[in-house]
Amino acid sequence: MKTQQLVSSAETIALYDQYVMMTYGKQPVVLVRGEGCLAYDAEGKEYLDLVAGIAVNGLGHCPPKVVEAIRKQAGILMHTSNLYYVPGQAQLAKLLCEISGMSKAFFCNSGAEANEAAMKLVKKAAKVSGHPEKCEIVTALKSFHGRTLAAITATGQPKYQKSFTPLVPGYKYIPYNDMEALKDAVDEQTCAIMMEPVQGESGVHPGTVEFMQTARELCDKYGAALIFDEVQTGLGRTGKMFGFQQFGVVPDVMTLAKTLGGGFPIGACLARDNWADVFEPGDHAATFGGNPLACAAAIAAVTEIRDGGWVENADKVGAYFRERLADLPGVTQVRGLGLMIAVDFAQPIAKTLVAKALEAGLIINATSDNTLRFVPPLILTKELVDRAVGAIAGILNSEF
Ligand SMILES: *Cc1c(COP(=O)(O)O)cnc(C)c1O
Repeated sequence: MKTQQLVSSAETIALYDQYVMMTYGKQPVVLVRGEGCLAYDAEGKEYLDLVAGIAVNGLGHCPPKVVEAIRKQAGILMHTSNLYYVPGQAQLAKLLCEISGMSKAFFCNSGAEANEAAMKLVKKAAKVSGHPEKCEIVTALKSFHGRTLAAITATGQPKYQKSFTPLVPGYKYIPYNDMEALKDAVDEQTCAIMMEPVQGESGVHPGTVEFMQTARELCDKYGAALIFDEVQTGLGRTGKMFGFQQFGVVPDVMTLAKTLGGGFPIGACLARDNWADVFEPGDHAATFGGNPLACAAAIAAVTEIRDGGWVENADKVGAYFRERLADLPGVTQVRGLGLMIAVDFAQPIAKTLVAKALEAGLIINATSDNTLRFVPPLILTKELVDRAVGAIAGILNSEF
């Protein structure tokens, strides 16, 4: 291990208290290093990380091929401007289109930015088709699409919106998986339906085939775009390369971020057929979007996810993980696809469990008082599942 000048965890936390805006409810741990599914704090304690940067570290911490690609590219060219051509961005766009069936890509830096691009794209598409009245976007309650103003507007959760009104006009919300409500909400004014294939942030709720097929049919009927927010579900998470492949329903526009850069920030909005040619010079931009360094990281990450067998691994180890979780005491439901998993408890113990697990060297996440969410690296093994479930069982079986 490399030696590193480390400040203590307490010193770092004190600096945060003084200098960093408190936008996050943080766990009391200072992480300084990671390798695969493991992470280490400033005092050298080891943690099994089943949050993985909230579904970002799909290949675990510091995946060797991504590290190598970043090191190499950093010494060649890190950033130009999108006013010039760079090879990596073109290669990444080709790779993503080949694995997704989409036609073209726009690159940005995050999930919220990718969704902004998607929402601007569908609004412009309606206008250029001669239908300026088509300006409504239908999204789901309990969805999550990011934290910019348009993204929190699309996010059907009042708790994220209430302090930031007025929101962006033109949004309608329906209960997820409610086909009748969707049919009632969509009409000639609709320019897009935007859905997560599996609702992640609100506790891992998979969409139903019938609901997604209904969304597709309604979009076709009214000439609206079907946008899938695959920021969390994309690139192997659900045990398929993309969430939409779970339903046999192909979106017109899809967004990616989280796992895309293997830990390096990058987002993408992909679109197919006519939707891919809506934007013209001047319509949209991101200074850092798709720069050579981010694209090198993403090419390495996506290639490894595709060729390393990690999508299949997510499917297989995810099934095993769900089976093991179902045996824990007090569990009322286990949900999810692949390595995107939630477990509900009868009692409101999730937050206490997260704290106790951290003490026991296990990083897990609660989406509510009763629900734990697991979005571990796709490289997780059955042995590590046993270690995690054993640790949680140990906590549940002790007095707390
Ligand atoms: C995390 C997430 C986002 C937001 O991504 P950021 O990179 O934080 O902007 C958007 N949509 C979904 C489905 C997400 O899980």
